[in-house]
Amino acid sequence: MAAYVVGHKNPDTDSITAAIAVADLMTKRGIEAVAAAQGKTNPETDFVLGKFGVKAPEIVTDATDKKIILVDHSDLAQSLENLSKGEILGVVDHHKLGDVTTPNPLEMWVWPVGCTGTIISSMYDFYGIEMPKAIAGIVLCAILSDTVMFKSPTCTPEDKKACDKLAKIAGVTDMMALGMEMFKVKSAVDGTPIRDLVYRDYKDFNMSGTGVGIGQLEVVDLSILDKYKAELQADIVKVKAEKGLHSVFLLLTDIMKEGSEMLIASDDPSVVEKAFGLKPEGTSVWMPGVMSRKKDVVPKFEKVFGA
Ligand code: MG
Ligand code: MG
Ligand code: MG
Repeated sequence: MAAYVVGHKNPDTDSITAAIAVADLMTKRGIEAVAAAQGKTNPETDFVLGKFGVKAPEIVTDATDKKIILVDHSDLAQSLENLSKGEILGVVDHHKLGDVTTPNPLEMWVWPVGCTGTIISSMYDFYGIEMPKAIAGIVLCAILSDTVMFKSPTCTPEDKKACDKLAKIAGVTDMMALGMEMFKVKSAVDGTPIRDLVYRDYKDFNMSGTGVGIGQLEVVDLSILDKYKAELQADIVKVKAEKGLHSVFLLLTDIMKEGSEMLIASDDPSVVEKAFGLKPEGTSVWMPGVMSRKKDVVPKFEKVFGA
């Protein structure tokens, strides 16, 4: 039985391309594996897969009786249903270590770099396996996406090195132009249902027993979202109620201005000022320099909710 390689819920480009690449690498190492996803691909990922002629992974949502390799996450809240009824063979991730545990030894590749793709690039080198051209192309895009073209505070020198190597393999001569093209696709929100925008890059967290949801929309110019802000705000209030969460935050990130406006729906909005030292006006606050949910936002909230 082939193992399923799967990224987090509401899959982003890294979760999808990491699943595809790790499935390729595992299979070539003699461990038969197929790429899977917990949901359908977003427009940015569709652009990336289309650009390099790679097809989207099959959808899998339950781990029962399956062999599983997790990529781009290790939090139960972001993983497959019934994960404990499957067998986890490995984890390849670049986030804080989550709450996944296993009864058996497993292969762990967890590095503090900007993207799972950067780790995967090194895995191919480690096993002496050549990365296929199309896979190098999609993984390159994942690194450009996760690091916001190297602007994110999560970006490391290893990410840049991996991109140089992958661009050569993929035959990409201008990676910044490719990245810009990709972020323009990502910024196109017109005609998208509001709930889809809220969930486009959304994660649930269990912060010391408190349920917190944090979504993020990255755009090349925040004014693109002006006409949708009121509806987005109303919808995160609904998401919070539907999921029974303490708080839902939505980061509207301007990748050129390098900051985020945070929309707030919370049982205790003072957590925002406690975490960031910035006073919201009504239900939103502009946060200069805040680009990364993982590095700039999650640890600060974890601290406040853990206190
Ligand atoms: Mg991700
Ligand atoms: Mg990632
Ligand atoms: Mg991201």
